[in-house]
Order: sequence, then C-alpha cells, then structure tokens
Amino acid sequence: MVNIKINGMDVQAPEGSTILEAARLAHIRIPTLCYLKEINEIGACRICVVEVKGARTLVTACVYPISEGMEITTQSPKVIEARRNTLKLILSDHDKECLSCVRSGNCELQTLCQEYGVDDAHEYEGAMNEFELDTSAPHLVRNNNKCILCRRCVAACEKFQSVGVIGPNMRGFATNIGSAYGMPLGSTACIDCGQCISVCPVGALYEKDNTDDVFAAIADPEKHVFVQTAPAVRAALGEEFGYEVGTGVEGKMAAALRRLGFDGVYDTNYGADLTILEEAHEFLDRFKNGGKLPLITSCSPGWVKFCEHYFPDMTENLSSCKSPHQMQGAMIKSFVAKQKGLNPKDIVTVSVMPCTAKKFECKRDDEDGTGYPDVDVVITTRELARMIKRAGIDFRNLPDEAFDDPMGEYSGGAVIFGTSGGVMEAALRTAVYWITNDDTNTPVEFNEVRGMGGIKEATYTVGDVTVRVAVASGTSNARELLNRVKNGETQYDFIEVMGCPGGCINGGGQPQVTAEVRNFTDYRTARMNALYRYDEASAVRKSHQNNSLQTLYKEFLGDIGGEKAHHLLHTTYVKRGLYEEV
Ligand code: SF4
Ligand code: SF4
Ligand code: SF4
Repeated sequence: MVNIKINGMDVQAPEGSTILEAARLAHIRIPTLCYLKEINEIGACRICVVEVKGARTLVTACVYPISEGMEITTQSPKVIEARRNTLKLILSDHDKECLSCVRSGNCELQTLCQEYGVDDAHEYEGAMNEFELDTSAPHLVRNNNKCILCRRCVAACEKFQSVGVIGPNMRGFATNIGSAYGMPLGSTACIDCGQCISVCPVGALYEKDNTDDVFAAIADPEKHVFVQTAPAVRAALGEEFGYEVGTGVEGKMAAALRRLGFDGVYDTNYGADLTILEEAHEFLDRFKNGGKLPLITSCSPGWVKFCEHYFPDMTENLSSCKSPHQMQGAMIKSFVAKQKGLNPKDIVTVSVMPCTAKKFECKRDDEDGTGYPDVDVVITTRELARMIKRAGIDFRNLPDEAFDDPMGEYSGGAVIFGTSGGVMEAALRTAVYWITNDDTNTPVEFNEVRGMGGIKEATYTVGDVTVRVAVASGTSNARELLNRVKNGETQYDFIEVMGCPGGCINGGGQPQVTAEVRNFTDYRTARMNALYRYDEASAVRKSHQNNSLQTLYKEFLGDIGGEKAHHLLHTTYVKRGLYEEV
C-alpha cells in the first residue's frame, strides 16, 4: 500500500493505483469525460486535472500514478477554474440544443456544466464546425456537432469489438470522428452493435428512433399491433425510471405496454424457448449425423454480421435458426393470425430489444416466413422508455401484470438468453433431456458457462456422449475464439457467441450507463443476476417443458425441425466483404 494525502486527509491505496482510483477509495469523486477504464485511458480531455504538490502543472488524475508521500488537492480554486475553462472550450464548438437532445438528463457534459456553473462559452466565441449528420447506417445517427472528441466510441469499437471502423479524421480544429476518408458508416463493415452509442457521454451518437412509427401504427384502426419484449429488457428498463441497476421490472413493463395500446403484449421468452427446441434439435442432428461443427449460435445479429464480414468461411457453422424475436414475429403473423382470424398484411409486429443490430436484422433477406416481414419495427429499451414517458404512464406506480396468451408462457431457460452463456445453458438443459430421456435426475444449472468472462469453456459427458462447448461475448473475444478454432488449437462441438460484451444485458440499445457507473461498478453482473432470479423463480426451467410450445407444434408446426418449422423459423446468411455500397 502507498500512503498519500488527498485534500489534507491520509489515504492508503494499492501501489500502481492512479490518483483517480485512490481518490475513489477515499470517497472523493474526480470528474472524468474521456476516461473509460481499461479501454480509453488517454488523459485527453483534462477534466480530471488535480494539483500535486511539487508538480509544475496540473496533472490528469486518470493516468497519473500515486507515489509514497504524494499530496494531492482535487478541489482548489485553480483546479476548479481549469475544469471550467475546459468545459467552456468544449461548449465553444458544441451544438447546445439541450432542450430536445436525446441525452438531456443523462448527458455527462450537461451534468458537469451544471456542477461547475458553466452555461455558455461567450469568452470563446468564434468559428464553429458544421458537420452533416451521418444517417447511412441502419441503426444509428452520428451528429458530430455534439461530439466532444473523447474517443470513447473509437475505443469501444476497436477494443470491445475488434471492428475498428471509426477513428479520428483530419487535424486540429477540424478533427472529427468518423470512418476512414469520411466514408459513410453504412458503407463500412460496421456490425450495428451500438457499443459506440453505449459509451458516448453526450448526444453525438444515438439509435435511429422508430417511436413515432409505433405510435402511428397503434393509432391506425386498420392495423393490429402486437409487441414482444426481449429477456434482457426487463433487467434494465427500470434504470430509465430511477430504479437501481439490476432491478427486474417484468410485470410493470407488461403493464406499461398494455397502457400504450398494443393489441397483444407478448414475451420474446416464448420465442427463446422456440429457438432452443429448433437449435438443440439442429445441434443433435449435426452432432449425430456428421454435420458441420462446431455449431455456432445465431441469436445475436451483431455477431452474425461480424461472422459474415470477418469470418465468411465460417457462415456454414452458424445455426440456421432465426433469432428468437424473428421466430416469434413469424409465429404472430401465422399462428396467432390464424387463431384470431387476422390477415398477416394487417398485422404490425413490434420488437422491444436491448439491441441496435436488430434494427438491421428485421430488414434482412429471408426474414419473412409468411411473405411479410417477420418483424416490422424494432425499438430499443431506451426508445420504449421514451414512449412510456411521452405517453404519461406512471411507470413506478404500475401494478405487476402478466403477458398475454398464447405467447406469455416461458421457461427459466428462455429468460437467461439475455446474458452471456444463457443460450448455451438453455440448449444444454434440453439437449441433455433429449439424450437421456430423463427430466428428473439431469442437471438444470451449468455454472461453467455463466458469468462475465469473455471466453468460457466446458466439457460435458452425458451417458456415452461428450460435448465440448465454448461461450464468447463481445466480438473481439469471438474473433480470438474463432481464430483458435481455425488454427486447430482447440476443438468444440457447440459455441455460443453474443455480439456485445456480457451479452444482451449490455446491448447497444440498453439504458446508457455513465462512465461514473461503468468505471467503478459491475453493472453487467447486476443486470445478469436479475435474469438468473427470474430463472430460479420459474416453475418451468427447461424450454421443452413450455406447454404453449407443445401446443404450437401439435396444432400448427408439426415436427421440431420439420418442413413447416424450417420454412418459418430458419434463415440463410451472406458472405460479405469489408465494404458495402449504401
Ligand atoms: S450533448 Fe449534452 S450538452 Fe450537448 S446538447 Fe445534448 S444534452 Fe446538451
Ligand atoms: S455500431 Fe459497433 S461496429 Fe459499428 S461503429 Fe459502433 S461500435 Fe463499431
Ligand atoms: S461520438 Fe461520442 S464517444 Fe465518440 S468521440 Fe464523440 S463524444 Fe466521444
């Protein structure tokens, strides 16, 4: 331990700590903007400056290591003035339309300006950059007029995802963040994951907003509008309404959706159980009959697009299963339409997803089992929160309500789809039953594939069958894992990949977590735990025990993996290059 003084107080901190980390131990918050732990420690924005006795200039706390006897002041007039000046300089070239900005209320720049009493930048009036919005990608908008050049998005794209399609262009005052040579993002091999949006501290990056489309569909008397919500949404939506991170709000969410006026309020968990039946069947078929292995899951459209761009020679390894919400969309437009006597052309299916890549996925080819798009509109968790607020729904005081039949019933295996390892665990629960024909003495929990580790591996032996599995989340981990497979370093039978680090609980459409929370708390695990609590509380834990699905196959689909199921629930992939015309 190293002994230092912060603001005159004795503090001990582990050797190697930065001033920022040591101050946290003494419950002193030093503001940051560009700093993201482990991925963007660049000391560039200088909002975290502090005084160190004996140093000739102010130093940046996020990268400056402590040393024995160091005396630090974090709140002197000189420090405060320097931070104010930094904020004024940022604002001098910033589009300050806070009133309608998508980040107003949780913008890290706005919060700091409020804390430091900075409301404009008259002292630095002069030229301002004027950038055109980049709307070329299917999922996001880049508004560089609000960008503060912190480079957090660049770090996320490169280090979490190993995609690296964005970076700084030009020099000096003209510096801007974008793709190489100013190419539109939609022309690059971006995977639409939205991790850049998640880490942006301001309103420079945001999803393409489809909330007006949904309000319009609901108001159209000719349309029957059915909504479904992904497992991970319930683990994070509450954050938009002031609940602690990791609070599950499934019942209130269903109640809010009903009050928004949807004709059917369904749970994508039903689609997740359906995916398991089809995917576990596909796995056992390939495993027993010499099909292409390892089978790799296909629920995550960010991951699928990554595979298509960067590992096109492995697209045959992808499961042909559509993702759960696409399967469910196809079922709404076929099975539910038949049950309710509706024409699929009059049905609008809306998916609430933790994911921005789903906005791309619903427009892909071969995602239209009935001849109509399986899913018409995807909105993110953040957009749902916006709709609930705009509709004046008192979310916190809503009663807990259930989803509608026939797509409200789910197993615990379905709800854990929302976290890394969940799809694998759910598939194993069912595959083990199918191998052993025993549902009472076989395991439910497969702890080896749980948790926030980037790559997890396990080997399971059931009877005379041994299965080697791996789980990766974040495409940079997926890249490492697939390279190992391609190089023959290791062999697996079944791999789960989720595009976002930690899985959908940390998807690019989830409520934004400020750097303050991101850097110093394990918010991913808190959200993950909310899903495992739902799993433990479920009367049925295994997908094949979902009674509604048994009815679906008996009355409508026929055999699992059969011809009708294949037509409606499976899809195809594309081998892409690294650049695309838009
Ligand atoms: S990014 Fe922040 S400071 Fe800028 S307009 Fe939006 S809310 Fe205001
Ligand atoms: S959406 Fe994902 S891949 Fe595309 S620029 Fe953002 S972080 Fe990179
Ligand atoms: S877009 Fe956002 S995250 Fe990226 S550099 Fe600009 S302000 Fe930072």
